[in-house]
Amino acid sequence: MELTELTITQAHEGLKKKRFSALDLTEAFLDKTNNIDKKIFSFLVVTPESALSQAKKIDDLILQGKKIPVLAGIPMAVKDNILVEDIRCTAASRILETYIAPYDATCIKKLKAQGAVILGKTNMDEFAMGSSTEHSAFFSTKNPHDQSRVPGGSSGGSAAAAAANMCCYALGSDTCGSIRQPASFCGVVGLKPTYGAVSRYGLIAMASSLDQIGPITKTVAEAKIVFDVISGKDPLDSTSIKYQVSSIKYQVSNLRIGVPKEYFAKGIDPEVEKIVKSAIKKYEALGANIEEVSLPYSTEHALATYYIIMPSEVSANLARYDGIKYGYSKVESRKSKVESLLDVYLKSRAEGFGEEVRRRIMLGTYALSAGYYEAYYLKAQKIRTLIREDFERVFKKVDVLMTPTSPTPAFKLGEKVLSPLLMYLSDIYMAAVNLAGLPAISIPCGKVENLPIGLQIIGKPFEEDRILDIADIFEKSNNF
Ligand code: GLN
Repeated sequence: MELTELTITQAHEGLKKKRFSALDLTEAFLDKTNNIDKKIFSFLVVTPESALSQAKKIDDLILQGKKIPVLAGIPMAVKDNILVEDIRCTAASRILETYIAPYDATCIKKLKAQGAVILGKTNMDEFAMGSSTEHSAFFSTKNPHDQSRVPGGSSGGSAAAAAANMCCYALGSDTCGSIRQPASFCGVVGLKPTYGAVSRYGLIAMASSLDQIGPITKTVAEAKIVFDVISGKDPLDSTSIKYQVSSIKYQVSNLRIGVPKEYFAKGIDPEVEKIVKSAIKKYEALGANIEEVSLPYSTEHALATYYIIMPSEVSANLARYDGIKYGYSKVESRKSKVESLLDVYLKSRAEGFGEEVRRRIMLGTYALSAGYYEAYYLKAQKIRTLIREDFERVFKKVDVLMTPTSPTPAFKLGEKVLSPLLMYLSDIYMAAVNLAGLPAISIPCGKVENLPIGLQIIGKPFEEDRILDIADIFEKSNNF
């Protein structure tokens, strides 16, 4: 087995037993990236110097006979909307092309405290807006299973890097599926935590009431390791919550699984439906009780609600990129005529933001403007409550919900990028989860013509442990 194929636990054991050093491990990942990222394009920035010097520090600790935490010396990648001190952080946008992060995000601080080795920053859709990584201002990432296809988005760089063994694990962010959908397209595990479980401090905000950081890993056990490290209350994020890791080991026997009937209706690829249903059958064979449930608001109205609330928050969050405070500025260009302060704002934003970002800022500004606020934003907030109540009702009867992560396998590069509506539709099974703030995981559950398919398991708030345990049982009973 190559070093880059090891799980976190295997690599940790190898380091402890001195079968290889942290330097060997880091070099193996850097070599791999050097060799194959020319074709996959998952990294925006690779940081070999700081990675190797961090690995060396861990090797010194091991030589001194010190006990090392499980993530020490393990190489990982970070989505480029999460700040890592002194490293360029662009959110895949021209407007932040030269921005150097002045501090570490809280999750990065926690990982560094464990001795994590950061290999670099991964490609994404600009400001996390998209489902294919094609909205990156720099280049598109390719799906390692089929390079003519997208890796999913917006954390496509992180998912592709993990799937192609260019990192041991990666971090992503999920506002409406951006961890789960690329994990599903690339055949890896993606956990979107409960809103508030992981601090958002140092995450470049897209839609603050929906954004969450989470792990993208090769196995479920690894997602749990990383989640346990990054979760918890942070005084720098008032929406974060003290997290109690449960000591219960959840089992499948007598587990009540809800299968929302609306998630298997029109629009789903029949092959995806077959594979996901047979995964659910497998749980039944393992002793779970399957029950059909209904989530009327969550399916019918989730996407429309998301595409009002998200752009509204986007329009407010992205107002800070004004050509003065951060990054790209038309003031710097002496060639073009900038006539007034307003002109600086307008020109910097028009040139710094890509088309999809501009579209969402305009939609959000419209939805929030006087006269329209009640009709759009306020109405959407009311429907958001109904969506949350949909879940509260079914979670009285069942312990978890199972659905496909995405209605189709990875689509072709270029297939949806010119049609925003088609692209938005690919988020259909994920939007309600973010609107209700629930935890959900996507795990590989089969393949259609060599393309991975994801099973989404949705849990009650703060029941990450339960969905991780039962996902782990499925993973161990299968071989894909
Ligand atoms: N596809 C979603 C969108 O375009 C992804 C958002 C996200 O999770 N970052 O809004």
